[in-house]
Amino acid sequence: MARVLILGCGGVAQVAIRKCCQNSDVFSEICIASRTKSKCDALKEKLSGKTATKIETAQVDADKEEELVSLIKAYRPEAVLNVVLPYQDLTIMEACLKTGVHYIDTANYEPEDTDDPEWRRIYDKRCRELGFSAYFDYSWQWAYEERFRAAGLTALCGTGFDPGVTSVFAAYAKKHYFDTIDTIDILDCNGGDHGYAFATNFNPEVNLREVSAPGSYLENGKWVEVPAMSIKREYDFKGVGKKDMYLLHHEEIEALGRNMPEVKRIRFFMTFGQSYLDHMRCLEDVGMLSTTPVKFEGHDIVPIKFLKELLPDPASLGPRTKGKTNIGCIFTGKKDGAEKHLYIYNICDHEESFREVESQAVSYTTGVPAMIGTMLVVNGLWRKPGVFTTDEFDPDPYMEALNRWGLPWEIDEDPVLVE
Ligand code: NDP
Repeated sequence: MARVLILGCGGVAQVAIRKCCQNSDVFSEICIASRTKSKCDALKEKLSGKTATKIETAQVDADKEEELVSLIKAYRPEAVLNVVLPYQDLTIMEACLKTGVHYIDTANYEPEDTDDPEWRRIYDKRCRELGFSAYFDYSWQWAYEERFRAAGLTALCGTGFDPGVTSVFAAYAKKHYFDTIDTIDILDCNGGDHGYAFATNFNPEVNLREVSAPGSYLENGKWVEVPAMSIKREYDFKGVGKKDMYLLHHEEIEALGRNMPEVKRIRFFMTFGQSYLDHMRCLEDVGMLSTTPVKFEGHDIVPIKFLKELLPDPASLGPRTKGKTNIGCIFTGKKDGAEKHLYIYNICDHEESFREVESQAVSYTTGVPAMIGTMLVVNGLWRKPGVFTTDEFDPDPYMEALNRWGLPWEIDEDPVLVE
């Protein structure tokens, strides 16, 4: 029986909240707090009479530490689940430390203002020293390690699907199937069709920043960076069929590289259709993906924020999206001296997700693991002081929970490898 504060009421949060409400033996009380309280109230209204979980709602600006501290002090949760945006990770972590509660999120920190000179100085140094130029990285949150440890609190970072489940798959493969893992290829395939020429499946700003950045992967402990979308492979995904996928930088590579340094190469691929890529290139070429404000008729406008207003709200894609996702990891390595290959993956159906929680599968595959990670922290199975990613705990209870809560996984012991 736990009392949890959930920050955010967008696409991912709405799934996480509904799954908490299905799991009211653990989540006996939740408070949904977000910038727009009316969205929290509307969801509470929809869930009323359908769950034993007691729901409260609140308005909060998660950029303001003092507002978060007051809310946490007033509600007194055991843990805070952050499903707002990566921009607020550090303020929320600070507020959790100040109030003595556990912290859980689904995406690592990135700054909203990438022109901030103080942030740029540290970023430029990191680009030079480590060799990857994504705006997001774990260093900001790993810097909280000592403070969470000293406070006896758990910070669980990145419990979505990727990152999140993909890193649990890695810990599971290591525990049960391999003596040594040599390579990990993380594959994220979305075979869904929403009928729009261009839309993003989760927050457009965060999504477009991620996919328009240079790709990178880890090889023998070193980052190799390549131009955006320059490494392309075709793969035949079970449940979806043949898709083009492209190498991207992704945050779990960084955490897996630190926690499993024996792995010689870690890459991440995501599928994109030609229409998505054509639109993205065009938007980038005309400057619409820029995060730097421009003056327009006397107002400061951030192009990518304006674009977000024009694009379909990801939460509205649910009723229109058909098809499946197939996300997982291909491992190669050795077991008892013999070469071994393995693909652990989940297939999730957009229409089934919508029938269950009124969301498409991308929000579903993120919201379910957000609930599971929070459950394991509050029930004590994944509780230890410090800042952790999902590959740093016993994977078994998480894997069991995936099967139980809507993301059953499968294992292929003879997968086609990615060249
Ligand atoms: P949405 O844009 O749909 O929702 C964001 C929510 O946060 C909205 O409710 C928004 O409020 C609220 N919010 C934004 N800023 C603030 C603020 N300053 N104070 C309070 N509330 C705020 O995003 P998604 O649901 O698509 O994504 C949520 C998170 O999930 C992101 O961090 C994203 O990176 C992560 N993610 C992780 C994945 C994974 O597999 N690990 C995959 C997909 C997403 P309002 O309604 O007012 O706008």
